[in-house]
Amino acid sequence: MVSAQDSVVELPLARFLARCHAEFSADHSGEVATYIPELALANPSDFGIAVTTVDGFVYEVGDSNVAFTLQSISKAFVFALALDIVGPDRVEAVVGVEPSGDAFNSIRLGADNRPFNAMVNAGAIACTSLLCEIEGAGMGERLTDAFSRFAGHRLEVDEATFESERVTGDRNRAIAYLLRTHGVLKGNVDEVLDVYFRQCAVKVTARDLSVMAATLANKGINPLTGEQVASSYAVARTLSVMTSSGMYDSAGRWVYNVGIPAKSGVAGGIVASLPSQLGLGTYSPRIDDQGNSVRGLRSCEALSSHFGLHMLNRIGDVRTCIAASYDVGSVSSRRARRPEELAILEAHHAAGIVLELAGALSFANVEYVSRRIQDLQPHLSHLVLDFRRVSSISEAASHLLTGALDGLVTHGVEVVFSGVAKGTSLEASLAGWLGGKHGVRGIAPLDEAIEWAEDRIIQRLGGHLDLQKPTILAEQQLLTDLSQDELSDLAGLMATRDYDAGDRMIGSGDPATSLLFVGSGVVSVRLPSGIRLATLSAGMAVGEMALLETRRSADVWADTSVTCLELSLEDFAGFRERHPRAAEHVMANLARLLSKRLIVANNKIEALASF
Ligand code: GLU
Repeated sequence: MVSAQDSVVELPLARFLARCHAEFSADHSGEVATYIPELALANPSDFGIAVTTVDGFVYEVGDSNVAFTLQSISKAFVFALALDIVGPDRVEAVVGVEPSGDAFNSIRLGADNRPFNAMVNAGAIACTSLLCEIEGAGMGERLTDAFSRFAGHRLEVDEATFESERVTGDRNRAIAYLLRTHGVLKGNVDEVLDVYFRQCAVKVTARDLSVMAATLANKGINPLTGEQVASSYAVARTLSVMTSSGMYDSAGRWVYNVGIPAKSGVAGGIVASLPSQLGLGTYSPRIDDQGNSVRGLRSCEALSSHFGLHMLNRIGDVRTCIAASYDVGSVSSRRARRPEELAILEAHHAAGIVLELAGALSFANVEYVSRRIQDLQPHLSHLVLDFRRVSSISEAASHLLTGALDGLVTHGVEVVFSGVAKGTSLEASLAGWLGGKHGVRGIAPLDEAIEWAEDRIIQRLGGHLDLQKPTILAEQQLLTDLSQDELSDLAGLMATRDYDAGDRMIGSGDPATSLLFVGSGVVSVRLPSGIRLATLSAGMAVGEMALLETRRSADVWADTSVTCLELSLEDFAGFRERHPRAAEHVMANLARLLSKRLIVANNKIEALASF
């Protein structure tokens, strides 16, 4: 687990939180709650702030590890759990979602005799009672377990606070009886209230709250443990009610100023969760007239206004979801093509387009992508969508993508997805397509997807891809402009080498003492890590860098059975003496090939950097 407290160099957010902590520590306004006698024992000067990011980094400052009781903060999590355990239909039938305008412990129900919402006592007791219908008193333990999974470690009930509230909790008893009169609470009042008082008395720290909030911000997945603790449905509904009713009577002001779904408790905690970004937990027991922690409130306000975290702020630009866009004419695969194939790809470059997508794909992103795809359409026959940098795709985005791709497929465009990592949630979201539905194919690495698109374009336009077809020496790119005599002299110096598919023809690091002219078959040049640098076929030379370098810089593998002619550097030196003009041609051809490779590499850099 990573934490800002472990780091040597102070991070900017850590510095900001430390400044907030120092500044707001001087604020001694507000009072510690006393209506539950045990709460009065809190140390009024305690003050901790913690922020957990959705990738699981924890920032902490001050008394972030001092324990206090959840109190009303439990309501947010119990609501989420009720939605998941009891089911939305039953929960939503019993508890409303409107702000009440009354105090949190008001003994008043809405006009339909339902509690206004799950963030006030009546609504929270109603949720607890629904949960108790499933497991009775045992639900207390189950809730503590569930809270623990939100926090990422075992939480305990503070028995003294539990007892203290049980003894003095008549107001909640009155609420519970009112709920029973209207058939909202069906079970035993004391049993339900015991569970309710227990959930309020679960001990947490500001750090715990930040992790619990980050779990809500992360669609219900705890970013420290990776566990899915609540469904995304329950999380979205909980955050909605937190937004409208989480901060007692200052909910409106809170949304206006801070704009982060939050819930506070009378013990002095505040939990605030900014979807997809962070979870915030604060603790300071002095509370204002509305029941919110004074220093906690100020910390949240400062953080939100300083960093512009209001949830209604526009973040990002939809266009950044296309990290790069290019056609197969400007950025080719690593398969070296024969001249006639290259001519086809150059003439029809706009037929094959690659869109490298990036980030979390939302409705707005994919709506933009769908328009880009439409613009490409007139010449498009092959589309590669690369997902290497995509972290997720929302349901709405999936629908739009289906619509856009269905349209293409019916117009005969072939679509291929690349870069979808195995076993990821993204793969699960795209499973419908990757299974071959909608005519979409999945080819793992982007380079292979581009190669596939090139092959298909060449085939469609009459090119041949017979890679086993033997070639003669005169067709070798390195030997153009050599006379018949020169070629026959050279041929006499060469030895035939045959390789089986899978053979390593050249080893990285070996002395470079010869070059190989591929007569038939396919070879790949790879780094020792397996990364492919190039795939070559008949008419091309491998190991040709021996003319310039003394050691092999990569491995060369036979992808199919391969026939080559090998020329040793020693023999070439002799040839050079006999035919200086021919040797000059060979070196000029090599320079031309290298310059072409450089142009292709520059095109790639240009295409990728221009976004
Ligand atoms: N257990 C407290 C009660 O029901 C929670 C109050 C709160 O934190 O708002 O009174």
